[in-house]
Amino acid sequence: MKKSIIGVDLGGTNIRVAAISMQGSVLHRTKQSTDPEAGKDLVIEKLLQMLERSVQREREAGRRPQAVGIGAPGVIYVRRGVIVSSPNLPDWVEVPLKAIVRRRISLPVVVENDANAAAYGEKWVGAGKGADSLICLTLGTGVGGGIILNGRVWHGEDGMAAELGHTTVNPDGPQCKCGNTGCLEVYASATGIVREVKRRLIREDSILKTSFQGREDVFSARDVFRAAKAGDLVCLRVIHQMGRYLGIGIANMVNTFNPQIIVLSGGVTAAWRDFIPIVKEEVTVRAFKVPRIRAKIVRAKLGDDAGVIGAAGAALQAMKGRNHWL
Ligand SMILES: [Zn+2]
Repeated sequence: MKKSIIGVDLGGTNIRVAAISMQGSVLHRTKQSTDPEAGKDLVIEKLLQMLERSVQREREAGRRPQAVGIGAPGVIYVRRGVIVSSPNLPDWVEVPLKAIVRRRISLPVVVENDANAAAYGEKWVGAGKGADSLICLTLGTGVGGGIILNGRVWHGEDGMAAELGHTTVNPDGPQCKCGNTGCLEVYASATGIVREVKRRLIREDSILKTSFQGREDVFSARDVFRAAKAGDLVCLRVIHQMGRYLGIGIANMVNTFNPQIIVLSGGVTAAWRDFIPIVKEEVTVRAFKVPRIRAKIVRAKLGDDAGVIGAAGAALQAMKGRNHWL
């Protein structure tokens, strides 16, 4: 009987559940909206039902699921599979997700931070395929980080390593929601980009000011990128600033880890052509030559599948006996 792994990407917007082959390809996938406002218990029940259907579907296809890997947002105690807290799932506090899923599904379960899962997915079968050392930055609503060292996710002593979005790139920068100031996230996330454009609109003229007259609060990072392409100076300057701070952050990572590949994913990479030359310029100025030449900065390949593939990969890695968290 063929084997498979069930991968879960538990996001604040969608729950994705997919069956993944032992080689990392998607065998089937399903998606439902999370609706976190309905409350934790209903979200968990929805997730469990999706998992049950997925396991059933695999068995009907003649495959035997081996484990469940779950990527979830927020602070996670990976070793125990407990979601400590999550900005995208506000009422999830100290939720023992691993134990809950295991009780119902009767398969080994691994709960991984979603950014770590995405990093592992890209390393397994994506833009960093085969790389032994890889850093992945997800530039979305926030900035997620994942570190792969010697082919494995680097968790740190408490399972909470790789919060690369909350490393300081400007000590005098704006307040971050984590309590610190000038984190990479306040510059390189979609939220941060929009906030910076809004701040500048008070004094400066921009296409966005005219086209969103009276309702400046409704534009998105995508609108900022579009305006920059049309030559809007405010938006271009904000993207330039974003590239500069992202470059500072990446230069620090290059000097710290000497990685093979740095993978950038998430919605903000839509502006790739506008920011990547500035990022590279900054890395050239700040990082040492040998690790800088080594580190390729590339765009992620797996898109929305990175989370489910990576979570399944993390479960597979745990099963191979490389850790005892199952
Ligand atoms: Zn922060």
